Amino acid sequence: MARLAQTADLTDIQQEILATVRSFVDKEIIPHAQELEHADAYPTEIVEGLKELGIFGLMIPEEYGGLGESLLTYALVVEEIARGWMSVSGVINTHFIVAYMIRQHGTQAQKEHFLPRMATGEVRGAFSMSEPGLGSDVAGIRTKAVRDGDEYVIDGQKMWLTNGGSSTLVAALVRTELGADKAHQNLTTFLVEKPAGFGTVAPGLTIPGKIDKMGYKGVDTTELVFDGYRTGADAILGGEPGRGFAQMMDGVEVGRVNVAARACGISIRAFELAVEYAQQRETFGRPIAQHQAIAFQLAEMATKVEAAHLMMVNAARLKDAGKRNDVEAGMAKLLASEYCAEVTTQSFRIHGGYGYSKEYEIERLMREAPFLLIGEGTSEIQKTIISRGLLKEYGLQR
Ligand SMILES: Cc1cc2nc3c(=O)[nH]c(=O)nc-3n(C[C@H](O)[C@H](O)[C@H](O)COP(=O)(O)OP(=O)(O)OC[C@H]3O[C@@H](n4cnc5c(N)ncnc54)[C@H](O)[C@@H]3O)c2cc1C
Repeated sequence: MARLAQTADLTDIQQEILATVRSFVDKEIIPHAQELEHADAYPTEIVEGLKELGIFGLMIPEEYGGLGESLLTYALVVEEIARGWMSVSGVINTHFIVAYMIRQHGTQAQKEHFLPRMATGEVRGAFSMSEPGLGSDVAGIRTKAVRDGDEYVIDGQKMWLTNGGSSTLVAALVRTELGADKAHQNLTTFLVEKPAGFGTVAPGLTIPGKIDKMGYKGVDTTELVFDGYRTGADAILGGEPGRGFAQMMDGVEVGRVNVAARACGISIRAFELAVEYAQQRETFGRPIAQHQAIAFQLAEMATKVEAAHLMMVNAARLKDAGKRNDVEAGMAKLLASEYCAEVTTQSFRIHGGYGYSKEYEIERLMREAPFLLIGEGTSEIQKTIISRGLLKEYGLQR
């Protein structure tokens, strides 16, 4: 809605990008989202449209063929896209994190090799930390890379790769025994190139089929199995082993702003649907929006939309200014995802019985919102990060 989720002090270029994306979302995403989502179909045409708009290279520096835009621009674009269909923002999110990690931590050769083709969307990224036995406890990763001459041999199983099948480059965090005391200092990020597809896609590398999910459909989520997979030492992000944990945490920090932006987008859509429905549906002789109980729900929903948007924008701007934003990104992700779950439920309730029908968009949003409570770290993990940062900041001087 025009009044909600506005952002002050955007440049002309940012406003132009957002207007273009908004129009694309209204014309090319919203009208097709329900059908594609119910069919669990990959949004090929939408992805091609995003490629043409340059969205895959939004934050990649201009010298590598991207648009060189800020995290804020990226987050606002994601908010718009998620307002249309959250799965589409999932297609670009892991790609964006991997491109960001290469930009920040890659060797010059890695930047030149990957970034220009990532900017066009020819190379598409997935990132892989989670395993069947762990998600929150990243330092416990078991998948192992063992040095063998000039090569590394990787064995183990990864889990929950968003874009696992459709991507052609996976940034995978694995254990390399370096003898460091702290477990996380023995972790290394490998840039694994592979063809898109399922099954055994390269010797020693298998992508089993798609995981069947309750929502977030269309975008493929997969496992990845390394079984004697061989790769050169030049596939290590940044060239040196042992830095993977810090590189991935840098990646998920920007990813958290992205998840907050997705939650904002879904909440905005849930509000739009509710405010429209509440003025059309009549009970007891008047539109339900004129019953104070419903009007107050709308007021609460809009207030949540606004608060989440402002926190998300603040976290993005801090990062763009080169400041630490771990606490703020954690807060934005926590608040936006929890509010998103509440706002979609309120919208669902306002729709009465029709909210339960697959003909109504709110049904899809109800299945999408819970993922945001989990992805890029659960709410409990965000609270751990926030409280740790605050106790450091406000620690008593003894
Ligand atoms: C659709 C989907 C897509 C995903 N995409 C990716 C991806 O692209 N790449 C990737 O690497 N991962 C991905 N993930 C994995 C995701 O990041 C993890 O699911 C998430 O981090 C939680 O880990 P877990 O599922 O192992 O839960 P667990 O870590 O086992 O946690 C289980 C529960 O315990 C709580 N808990 C855990 N530790 C603590 C603690 N110390 N204190 C209090 N509570 C705690 C958690 O909050 C949660 O409620 C995806 C997941 C889903 C569902």
